[in-house]
Amino acid sequence: MFEGLPFELQQRISDISKYEVEVQIVKPSAEHLQIHKRVPFRYSVTDLLGCVRKAYYKRYMPKALTEQSIYNFSRGKLFDAALTTCFKDNQQPVLYQCKKSPCQVSGRYDFITSEGVMTDLKTTDKDLASISEPMWEYKMQVRFYADLKGCSQAQIMYVNMQGIRVLPVTVGDCLDVYNFFEQQACLLFEAEQQKMVPQQQKDNFCVWCEYSLECGEAP
Ligand code: SF4
Repeated sequence: MFEGLPFELQQRISDISKYEVEVQIVKPSAEHLQIHKRVPFRYSVTDLLGCVRKAYYKRYMPKALTEQSIYNFSRGKLFDAALTTCFKDNQQPVLYQCKKSPCQVSGRYDFITSEGVMTDLKTTDKDLASISEPMWEYKMQVRFYADLKGCSQAQIMYVNMQGIRVLPVTVGDCLDVYNFFEQQACLLFEAEQQKMVPQQQKDNFCVWCEYSLECGEAP
């Protein structure tokens, strides 16, 4: 499962027994969870990639942490600390100023390889061999980061204890990506201005959305 990985990663994996992963398995802080609430009209890439109605709920009705959310947060931190740090350009923030509204879209990319490939790491519970195509949301995210940083190549790295699976993503003309983020940010911005919950954006995520009761979409 490690063939075709960048040299830095192959080296890190072969040294992994000597490498101490410095990560604290702690609850994500309130500051971390509220970070996008504190900056008016600045929205996270991950919130905009999902349902805008859910993003609104998250800003104004944050839920208490669950064991699952703490596990997911800590698992992501663990793999970030073990893998992204072997690249010089890692874990850097990006900020996009929307053209059609005062909104900003913020995110943080995982790393850029020494060959200039924008890379996003995704932890997964799935069998790596069963993943043949990155999720649409993941492709939008990594293309957004790639274009903002001037990278012509991008990839998604799915990772779990089984190994790593790398899937290339075509960056191409990112007009569709910017249009998408502008549109989603605008919907959230207008909802905030009017203090009204945005329209539902039903999708596959409704099935495990923590706001399904408030939304009226309880399964
Ligand atoms: S249940 Fe579906 S439509 Fe409602 S907030 Fe969640 S994701 Fe959005």
